[in-house]
Amino acid sequence: MKLVLATHNQHKVQEVGAILSQSVKDLELLGYDGPEPIEDGKSFLENALIKARAAYLHTGLPAIADDSGIAVEILGGSPGIFSAGWSGTRDNETNRNLLLAQLIDVKEENRAASFICTIAMVDEEGEVSFTGIWPGRVAFEEKGPNGFGYDPVFIPDGFEVTAAELEPEVKNSISHRSMALEQLANYLLTK
Ligand code: IMP
Repeated sequence: MKLVLATHNQHKVQEVGAILSQSVKDLELLGYDGPEPIEDGKSFLENALIKARAAYLHTGLPAIADDSGIAVEILGGSPGIFSAGWSGTRDNETNRNLLLAQLIDVKEENRAASFICTIAMVDEEGEVSFTGIWPGRVAFEEKGPNGFGYDPVFIPDGFEVTAAELEPEVKNSISHRSMALEQLANYLLTK
């Protein structure tokens, strides 16, 4: 089964392809080299659909796309879909520092946050989506060498270390992204 992942990031294609291939044996995941649409949706789902629709229209093949970010409860769900550019730059450290500054006076019990990942799939049968939510809280300072983005300031529920202190295999087996991918894999197996 051929599936296009709406990203120009070949690393992401390999990573997602490896995860999905564990259960979907005949999967061939392809990158997408067409024009990138403007992501002006108001939710993770809308943005994922915008990207998946563009890849489907451009290639004619079943297409998937993801959108993800961190939602902080006391900030009303922000940064949310604006996670990647929260500080006005796409620099991860600057974005993390802004988030820590915004929560500087917030006590531990009010620092609840979740990583959220929505994957949309578009094909001739229509549109479906899958969402993974990884609950936790925002740390008081960044820690840990692994991961990317907000990992060094996110402490998942059930842990006392940040996502950047977890081994990548551990993070990748429990994260919001792995939850959404698992749902997608189960769906693909029914096709
Ligand atoms: P996207 O590439 O538009 O989906 O934006 C995702 C942004 O959300 C990234 O740039 C990160 O800032 C943040 N993010 C999403 N998933 C993760 C994660 O697993 N760890 C850390 N940050 C994440």
